[in-house]
Amino acid sequence: MKCALVTGGSRGIGRAICVKMATMGYYVLINYKSNTEEANNTLEQVRANGGDGELLPFDVADKEQIKEVLDTWINANEDKDIEVLVNNAGIRDDSLMVWLKDEQWDSVINTSLNSFFYVTRLVLDRMMLNRYGRIINVVSLSGLKGVAGQTNYSAAKAGVIGATKALAQEVGRSGITVNAVAPGFIKTDMTEGLDEKELKRTIPVNRFGLPEEVAHAVGFLASKDASYITAEVLSINGGLYS
Ligand code: NDP
Repeated sequence: MKCALVTGGSRGIGRAICVKMATMGYYVLINYKSNTEEANNTLEQVRANGGDGELLPFDVADKEQIKEVLDTWINANEDKDIEVLVNNAGIRDDSLMVWLKDEQWDSVINTSLNSFFYVTRLVLDRMMLNRYGRIINVVSLSGLKGVAGQTNYSAAKAGVIGATKALAQEVGRSGITVNAVAPGFIKTDMTEGLDEKELKRTIPVNRFGLPEEVAHAVGFLASKDASYITAEVLSINGGLYS
C-alpha cells in the first residue's frame, strides 16, 4: 500500500494536501499535534473523496516523540510504504528580535526546521530502498525574502530551503525528488488575525490564496509527472514578492 504522510494535516493547508493525496490514490497518514477533532474532520474529507487513511498524532517539535510514534508505525507496517512525505506542520510566533524570547526562537525552529530533519530521516531509508520517493516541504515567502518581526520563522523556513536543495542532490540518483513550496498569504487559522483588506492591496492578484491552491501545486510535485523537478522552490503567492 502506498502512503502519503502529511505533517500538520488536521487543519489549513495540511488538510487540503491530505485531501489532494487521497484523490491521487494515496492512503493518507494525517499527522497533527493535539486537535483530534479537526484531524477527524480531515479523515472524513479524505474518505468523502474516495480515499482512506489514519490519524498519526505526534509533536514534530519533539524528536523523541517522532521516533517513538513514527518509527514504531513504520516498523509495524512493513506492507505500507511512505512514498510521499509532506513536511507541512508549522507555527509562527512573531516579535521584533529585540523582544524575541528564547522560547519563541526555540519553538519555531523546532517545529519548522528541526522537524524536517527528524521526520524526513526516518522515511528516507525505505524510499531509497524502493528507489522512489517524493518529499515536499512547505516553506514560506518569509524564508525567501525575510520578514521583519519574523526572524525566527524566516530563519526556520530559509533553513528548510537550504536543506531541500542539499538533500535533493544526495538522493536524486535514488529516484527521490525533494522540493519546496513557498506560500504567501493563505486563508487559514494562521492568518486569521491579519488585516486581509489592507494586506491584499500589496498582492498583485488582490486576494489571499486558498489552501487548495497550495495543495494543487503539492499534488503536482508529488506526481510522477514531476520526476525531473527537484531542488526547486515554487512560490505560491499571487505575485507578492517585494
Ligand atoms: P494552521 O495554523 O492552519 O495549521 C497548522 C497545522 O500544523 C495544524 O494541523 C497543527 O496541528 C499542525 N501543527 C502545529 N504544530 C505542530 C507540531 N508541533 N506537531 C505536529 N503538528 C503541528 O497553519 P497553515 O495551514 O496556515 O500552515 C501550514 C504550513 O504552511 C506551515 O508550515 C506554515 O508555516 C506554512 N505557511 C502558511 C502560510 C499562510 O499564509 N497560512 C504562508 C506561508 C507558509 P493541530 O491542529 O493539532 O494544532
